[in-house]
Amino acid sequence: MSDKKLGFDTLQVHAGTAPDPATGARQVPIYQTTAYAFKDAEHAARLFNLEEVGYIYSRLTNPTVMALANRIVALEGGVGGIACSSGHAAQIMALFPLMQPGCNIIASTRLYGGTLTQFSQTFKRFGWSAKFVDFDDLDAVRDAIDDDTRAVFCETIANPGGVITDLDAIGTISNDAGIPLIVDNTTATPYLCNPIKHGATLVVHSTTKYLTGNGTVTGGAVVDSGTFDWAASGKFPSLAAPEPAYHGLTFTETFGPMAYTFHSIAVGLRDLGMTMNPQAAHYTLMGIETLSLRMQKHVQNAREIATWLEGDARIEAVTYAGLPSSPYYDRVTRICPRGAGALFTVALKSGYEGCVETVSKMDLFSHVANLGDTRSLVIHPASTTHRQLTDAEQVKAGVGRNVLRLSIGIEDAADLIADLDQALS
Ligand SMILES: *Cc1c(COP(=O)(O)O)cnc(C)c1O
Repeated sequence: MSDKKLGFDTLQVHAGTAPDPATGARQVPIYQTTAYAFKDAEHAARLFNLEEVGYIYSRLTNPTVMALANRIVALEGGVGGIACSSGHAAQIMALFPLMQPGCNIIASTRLYGGTLTQFSQTFKRFGWSAKFVDFDDLDAVRDAIDDDTRAVFCETIANPGGVITDLDAIGTISNDAGIPLIVDNTTATPYLCNPIKHGATLVVHSTTKYLTGNGTVTGGAVVDSGTFDWAASGKFPSLAAPEPAYHGLTFTETFGPMAYTFHSIAVGLRDLGMTMNPQAAHYTLMGIETLSLRMQKHVQNAREIATWLEGDARIEAVTYAGLPSSPYYDRVTRICPRGAGALFTVALKSGYEGCVETVSKMDLFSHVANLGDTRSLVIHPASTTHRQLTDAEQVKAGVGRNVLRLSIGIEDAADLIADLDQALS
């Protein structure tokens, strides 16, 4: 099947899969196996030398997990990729082939809270660092890149306020500097945006969110565009210099555009072990089959609810980029033409206490630290996820004391509005 010519709705059901060659099973089987029998000693040796592609051990590859990875690759328009155990694992997996001790990345100040912590704290243990910059200040992004920079990192629809990043502008800056742009596309999903079309080299996902869609399993994915020249600058020796662990094989020479993907499997998954299990891959494959249908409803509901909130006297501000009043509204048609997602913040006139009370009175909205569920979710960052920050830091992160973050689900919009109305009163 040539995935290239098919539409999104067809790909989300078919890409990466075919009837099982052994049994004809139409749905992707859950290959609940750790190991795979070698045909003979010669076959085993070729697999271990990367002279032949095949299954060895499920820490590296598993047919169910590969089916999921290949489906996400097709939806993102990449050439290869991997699935792994969580979104945070995907971020480490994405950077691992690029980084060495002493290297840095340029990261947006507007990121998922856990990502800010991973980049600012845990990176140090690897000898890596992150420079955080306001990605609306293009000169600041350009100026932050130095000789030790190995990647630029941002989110398409950035947490927590649903701000749309100008991927075209950031992509141009990264490409001019010869540095790969990595885009976390979790909150947009490939249905609303394909970052590769806007200059991204790599796309990462927390499949925990919209791709699975119903809050059942954690997972992550990394997709490679196959377009970056890893050998050009001498900055990426893991990919473009002889690899001691494989008898001096050079990934770019041996695998061409698939160099990054093969490195991620043969070195990244082999040695870091951030592997997705086949059960999780199964749940996420089920979820992806209905991704476009769910995203249309998520976006339609978010638009209706944000519009209602903006018109309500108890509300100070709504950040949804899909509202004409948003400063990011013009970016929606260019970056996310099918909609601005379903994640935004709302500031209440009743302040911190009003937020705490409103959250406790909600019935349909669940108070959880998650997003991208079929269910509508709410969180008060100042009293939970961003509790450790000072008031000034909270405001800078877009989550002042009177701000609630909403992740709009696929229920009836009228019921969600009624729930908000009673909780606010
Ligand atoms: C949830 C999330 C992550 C982390 O993913 P996990 O699967 O929870 O590890 C990273 N980025 C974004 C935008 C997220 O929403």
